[in-house]
Amino acid sequence: MNMLHRLLSPAWAALFAVPLVAGAETTPVRSAPISGIRYEVTFDATTAPSRTLRVGMTFDVTGPGPVLLSLPAWTPGAYEISNFARWVSNFGATAGGKALTWDKLDPDTWRLRADGARNVTVSFDYLADSLDNAIAWARGNFVFFNGTNIFLYPEGRPMEFASTVTVKTDPSWLVTTGMTPAGAARTYKASSFHDLVDMPFFVGQYDVDSTQIANKTVRMASWPKGSLQGAARTLFWDHQKKVLPAMGAVFNDMPFDTYTTFIVFDSTSGGGSALEHQNSHVGIYTPLLVESVLFPSITAHEMIHAWNVKRLRPADMVPYRYAQPQPTTWLWVSEGITDYYSDVVLARAGIIDTTGFVLLTGGKIDEVDALPPVALEDASLSTWIHPTDGTGYIYYQKGSLAGLLLDISIRDATDNKKSLDDVFRDLYQSAYKQKFTGFTAEQWWGAVSRAAGGKSFDDFNAKYIDGREPFPYETVLPLAGFRIKVDTIREPRLGVSSAPDSSGVRVAEVQAGSPADAAGIRVGDYLLQVGEIPVRDPSFGEQFRTRYARASGTNLPVKVRRGEQTVDLQIAIRLAERMERRLILDPAASEKAVRIRNGILKGTSQ
Ligand SMILES: [Zn+2]
Repeated sequence: MNMLHRLLSPAWAALFAVPLVAGAETTPVRSAPISGIRYEVTFDATTAPSRTLRVGMTFDVTGPGPVLLSLPAWTPGAYEISNFARWVSNFGATAGGKALTWDKLDPDTWRLRADGARNVTVSFDYLADSLDNAIAWARGNFVFFNGTNIFLYPEGRPMEFASTVTVKTDPSWLVTTGMTPAGAARTYKASSFHDLVDMPFFVGQYDVDSTQIANKTVRMASWPKGSLQGAARTLFWDHQKKVLPAMGAVFNDMPFDTYTTFIVFDSTSGGGSALEHQNSHVGIYTPLLVESVLFPSITAHEMIHAWNVKRLRPADMVPYRYAQPQPTTWLWVSEGITDYYSDVVLARAGIIDTTGFVLLTGGKIDEVDALPPVALEDASLSTWIHPTDGTGYIYYQKGSLAGLLLDISIRDATDNKKSLDDVFRDLYQSAYKQKFTGFTAEQWWGAVSRAAGGKSFDDFNAKYIDGREPFPYETVLPLAGFRIKVDTIREPRLGVSSAPDSSGVRVAEVQAGSPADAAGIRVGDYLLQVGEIPVRDPSFGEQFRTRYARASGTNLPVKVRRGEQTVDLQIAIRLAERMERRLILDPAASEKAVRIRNGILKGTSQ
């Protein structure tokens, strides 16, 4: 069923998914009905060395025909096709002690001939060797996995089926999941497949502790043992106690009984990434991340997803369809505005101050400026194919800034009585709590316009969401006491671009008429020394600009390697101008603008 979709581009697949399937087959692909579904996952000292999860599934067949069992092709939140069936081996099915005949119907689907058997057991091995928060990864005495990786569902049947999961592991090892305990030891229950696969597991030896915040049980599980201890863990809990109430206040709801932060520290990771779920998230971080504001920032982002995207989400993604891509134009809201609220709740919780908010927001403006103009809707749709021009994830930063502009516009139109918070409270009720339909464009822009006292956002949508026009920072930001300051920076410039290779720092380009051109530096030369600065890495440019910031007109010796020779040259320093945009607090902000800024940063509307 998915093979067709994967041969087409995702956008085409989305357009044609229904007609193609319906047209190509006379009867819909549908499994025989099954019930009483129980899963069993084994990970212990015997399976850990081979990084293997042993997975079992038992069910009753309650109708005629073959049983069709599929694994998801992706994990919601990680918008890419992974085909978890790739990591399956030793697949088998038995009934009454006898092996059943099976084959594959498509790459993600197994077809079993039940032959009238009533109680069937399916089993397979899953290789947990992907250090990816959407997949599964084992190391020594530990594994994390997602339900999407290993839990089969009956094809073409309702996904609202109840099931249980039993984890078999060593008695001294731990099991942590957001799933609801079902009574028996290490057994959990879910009332639908959507819930089942949205609650990842840690199994093995790791640290876990918990506390009560706002009458909810909040847990932190971190691997390896001892990796997040002492002051760092205390600070994590301090932040949790402050941010969770601030988040609940935005949406006016606390929709979970427990919330779990799962963290895997990986020293080979350059940074960090995390994946949200309805009552947990899984982060994979370099240990260094804990020291930076990125840690509370990513944590807040993932937790806000518990409301925005896991519950309130675009209608395009309700319900999740696991067999094919599910593109949407709305990730600028689901990801971008989630990121806006991550900055906002950190400010409202007192974890960052106004300066911190300005720095985070200014950083997002710089990241958008550094890329070619791309429409938020287009970037959102394209993420499934991982564009190579750098715009593939810009709906995070640019969507966050769109959220700021909308929030300011609503507050300005209503003298700070209404805000973007009202938009989310409104949609959270109408498109999630009252009826879980997801929001449409009409509902979204309707809620924005309502919050702003009837103001139309058609023009905003056409220019900045559907369109590629530069954001109207100059007119909107001052309404909240922010301003873009343009600085003219004069700095010394050589006029070369260089790149490191195995032989040193090689000149890749010499600008015509530049000081480097006049000095006789050529493409292919290796820079060895410029003035007093030895050139060992590409950061020498920054050292050069700092060291010779006031040296206009002076001559400097330059040493380059050209072929086998070392050549001594003289370069005349010249200053060049460039513009730099910075977000600042507007010193001339009006009383109303200051109230709006405080409204955003303190959560007040008055
Ligand atoms: Zn996110």
